[in-house]
Amino acid sequence: SSDSLGVAPILTKLKKNCATPLPVLRHVADAMAVDMRAGLAVDGGSDLKMILSYVDTLPTGNEKGLFYALDLGGTNFRVLRVQLGGKEERVIATEFEQVSIPQELMFGTSEELFDFIASALGKFAQKEGSNFALPQGRTREIGFTFSFPVKQTSIRTGILIKWTKGFAVSGTAGKDVVACLNEAMERQGMDMQVSALVNDTVGTLAGARYWDDDVMVAVILGTGTNACYVERVDTIPKLAKGISKSPITIFEKTISGMYLGEIVRRVLVKMAKDGGLFGGSYVPEKLVTPFVLRTPDICAMQQDTSRDLEAVESVLYDVAGVKSDLSARKTVVDICDTIAKRGGRLAGAGIVGILKKMEEDSKGVVFGKRTVVAMDGGLYEHYPQYREYLQEAVTELLGSEISKNVVIEHSKDGSGIGAALLAAANSKYE
Ligand code: ADP
Repeated sequence: SSDSLGVAPILTKLKKNCATPLPVLRHVADAMAVDMRAGLAVDGGSDLKMILSYVDTLPTGNEKGLFYALDLGGTNFRVLRVQLGGKEERVIATEFEQVSIPQELMFGTSEELFDFIASALGKFAQKEGSNFALPQGRTREIGFTFSFPVKQTSIRTGILIKWTKGFAVSGTAGKDVVACLNEAMERQGMDMQVSALVNDTVGTLAGARYWDDDVMVAVILGTGTNACYVERVDTIPKLAKGISKSPITIFEKTISGMYLGEIVRRVLVKMAKDGGLFGGSYVPEKLVTPFVLRTPDICAMQQDTSRDLEAVESVLYDVAGVKSDLSARKTVVDICDTIAKRGGRLAGAGIVGILKKMEEDSKGVVFGKRTVVAMDGGLYEHYPQYREYLQEAVTELLGSEISKNVVIEHSKDGSGIGAALLAAANSKYE
C-alpha cells in the first residue's frame, strides 16, 4: 500500500541487526571463554552457570554387566536397561520404554510422583528377559538423568532447587532427588539403587565417549540449550565452595528451539504492520498470539523447494490464517533464514568458546589432536540449515587447519545409555 514502507527496508535492517560477521563471532567465543572462567572461579561469578557434574570417571568401553537408566526431564520419562559386554562385546542387549506422567501427579506430592516412577521402573525391571543377567549378590544400579535445576554435591546426591516445565510437586524442593527415588524404590520392595545422578548433556557426553575416546564436549540444542565438557579439576577454583542453578540467558534466546519461531513471528508482525507484508497494514489476528509460530514451522518453511512455495503458503495459512502471495512467501523464507543463520552461527561461536577455554588450559591438547563435540537435541537434529550455519561458523572461527581436528557430530539419543554407562563407571561394586 502507498503509506507503508514496503518490506525491503525492514528486511535490510533485520539482516543488518542479525548479521554475525567473523569479528562478532570471535567476540562471542571469547566472551564465552571468559564467562566460563568467571563461573568456575566462584559460585555466582558469571551469568553463565558452571555446574559441576561430579563425574570423575567416564565410560571406557570396559564396563560389564546389567545397568538401568531413568530419564526424567518432562512429561514423559524413559526407562532403559543395557547389558554391557566389555571392550569386545560392547552393548550386548538394550531395551527401553517410555511412560507418560499422569497430569495430576505433576501437582501432587513428592511421594506420589516418586512412587509412580519407582513403580513404572519396577514393572519394567520385571520384564527383564534372559538376554540380561545380574551377577549374584548385586542390586540393579541406575543412572538417573534428572533435567531440573539441582544442586549436586556428589555423583549420587542432588538437592532439587525447584521444579520447572509445568511441574508443581510439593515437598521435593530442598530434598535430595536420589534419596527420594531410592526411598520410593525401597517402599515398593525393589532391589534397585541409583549409582549416578546426571544431567542430560553429561549423559550425552558419556554415551558418545563410550564409542570414541576423543569426545570432550556435548551440546544439546533442543527446546533449550545446554553444554558440558571435560574439565581439569585443578582449573576449578570454586570446587570446594558449591554451585548453583542455571537461568535462561539472552544468548540462549537467540539460539534455542523454544525461541526461533517466536522471533520470526515478531518480525512478521512488524513487517505486516509497517511493511505491508500481507497487504496494507493488515496484521493477521492469529499471528499476534505469542509462540503460535513454532521452530518446526519455520524449519518446514525453509525446506520448501517448490516453485510456488506451497509449504510456506500452507504454514502461513494454518498458523496465521493468512493468504499470502509469492513475494510475501519469499520474504518469509528470507526472514526464517536470517534468524536460523544467526542462531546457528552464535551456537557455533559458543562451542568454539568452550573449545578455546579448554585449549588455553591444556596448551595444544584440544586443537592439536582430534577432538569430538557430540551434538543432540531436536533443533540440531531436524534443522539442516541451522546445523550447516553452526558448522560454517566453527570452521570460520577455527580456520581450515584446526577445523580438521574438530569433529562436530550428531550423537543421537546417547544420553539414556550414557546415564546407564555412568552408573556402570561409578558402580558401587567397582
Ligand atoms: P527437549 O524439549 O528436551 O529439548 P528435544 O531435544 O527433542 O527435546 O527438542 C525439541 C525441540 O526441538 C522443540 O522444542 C523444537 O524447538 C525443536 N524441533 C523439533 N522438531 C523440529 C524441526 N522439525 N525443526 C526445527 N526444530 C525442531
